[in-house]
Amino acid sequence: MKSIWTETASIPRRNPLPGNKRTQVVVIGAGMAGILTAYYLQRQGFHVVVLEADRIGSGQTGFTTAKITSQHNMIYKKMEKIMGKETARLYGKANQLAVEEYGKLIRANAIQCHYEKKDAYLYSVKESASLLREAECAMGLGLPASFEGELDLPFQVHGSVRFSGQAQFHPLEFLRDISAGLTVFERTRVIKVNGHEVVTDRGVVKADKVVFATHYPFVNVPGFYFAKMYQEKSYVLELEPVKPLHGMYLGIDSKAYSFRSAGDKLLLGYGSHRTGKLSEESPFSVMKRLGEHLFPGTKEGGKWTAQDCMTLDGIPYIGKFSGSRPDWYVATGFGKWGMSSSMVAAKLLSVQVAGKRTPYDRVFSPQRHHPAASAKKLVFHGMESVKGLSSGALPGAVNCPHMGCRLVWNRYDKRWECPCHGSSFEFNGKISSGPAQQSIPFID
Ligand SMILES: Cc1cc2nc3c(=O)[nH]c(=O)nc-3n(C[C@H](O)[C@H](O)[C@H](O)COP(=O)(O)OP(=O)(O)OC[C@H]3O[C@@H](n4cnc5c(N)ncnc54)[C@H](O)[C@@H]3O)c2cc1C
Repeated sequence: MKSIWTETASIPRRNPLPGNKRTQVVVIGAGMAGILTAYYLQRQGFHVVVLEADRIGSGQTGFTTAKITSQHNMIYKKMEKIMGKETARLYGKANQLAVEEYGKLIRANAIQCHYEKKDAYLYSVKESASLLREAECAMGLGLPASFEGELDLPFQVHGSVRFSGQAQFHPLEFLRDISAGLTVFERTRVIKVNGHEVVTDRGVVKADKVVFATHYPFVNVPGFYFAKMYQEKSYVLELEPVKPLHGMYLGIDSKAYSFRSAGDKLLLGYGSHRTGKLSEESPFSVMKRLGEHLFPGTKEGGKWTAQDCMTLDGIPYIGKFSGSRPDWYVATGFGKWGMSSSMVAAKLLSVQVAGKRTPYDRVFSPQRHHPAASAKKLVFHGMESVKGLSSGALPGAVNCPHMGCRLVWNRYDKRWECPCHGSSFEFNGKISSGPAQQSIPFID
């Protein structure tokens, strides 16, 4: 699959791991989370090795819409109500600092990555009351929020929440430059981790500390991330030419759209669903129709999909991988907000690996427990997994190599998908994204 980013940036190739090695920290995965974490760890003086199964940025980071914002949909009012004002404040502050850190990093290193400051907007075509409440709550938490009316979108909205001073960029141009001084071994898949030994298909790396930045952790036990995370897929369509939009936009109504510009292209996003649970109509057809209606005279460009990990309470898991593995760390569950969350992960993990603490640790801790925020999703996710597992036992099922759930064919995306944990495979069975780590065995 190709995206506007994979088509317009090339990151120099790195060699595979040449044999066994010793280092202080191994980071597994060279997406936005892994590369930023390695960067900040190295800046603190750690000797770091990054191991990547494929290429730098070849995972979900190559298929994002790359809005850098602390505006993560309508979360703040809900988070404040269920998890308390202090948790909501710390979550917002960590992400807002992350947004600002990108700007500083890009300026300090003169990184050419089409970085542009833009305001981020949530809009509704149906109502304004909840937007007003969200804006007031976000303001009260110290975020750069306000309630607004009209937008530069070609339809009427009832209201919007603006977060000022946010940004957008080209994620692969950014990764190309920020990874330049790091030791990265590509085409090196980690098979298992035994304590401090990271076993790959090219050799073993011994490390004092191990960071899992593989999008979805592939180790099932300990950690049990398969029981507390599922994945959601969304679809992106390019339209061109479209006059660059003033901001970045996300609708909050059901079946709403996401909009951002990239030069004279418009990136339209739509059609979120649990991976493996398809809608009746192709999201690409729906977006094509919308494009013809709202932006007449434009032509369809590239189209692609991406998916992200959703946690039970909506907050990423960043911190210790498990109580029983004190030297393992994890960054996952970004809920489709992995640009700012990767930066949060990098900043927190680079402090934690050095044996220190931050005021944000408890908010993002993978060992946290918010029954009020997660109980409903836990039950629903459990039921979906049981359904997928039991249908995996039926004759003729194509099963996922991760835990044996029955795979579903996504006719819009031309992939096999696992409705339990979201692993996906190309039409020929080749592994596309985890937690599964092998291709489907029925095809070479
Ligand atoms: C449609 C869509 C739009 C989005 N838009 C935005 C947006 O506008 N703003 C925003 O903030 N977020 C957005 N996101 C979310 C964001 O794209 C992701 O959260 C982010 O890219 C995840 O980065 P990552 O580093 O965790 O994962 P990845 O980029 O997937 O990196 C993980 C890496 O680990 C490697 N790996 C896996 N297993 C192994 C192994 N065993 N050994 C070695 N390497 C391994 C993979 O090959 C991969 O390269 C969007 C998500 C979707 C679905």
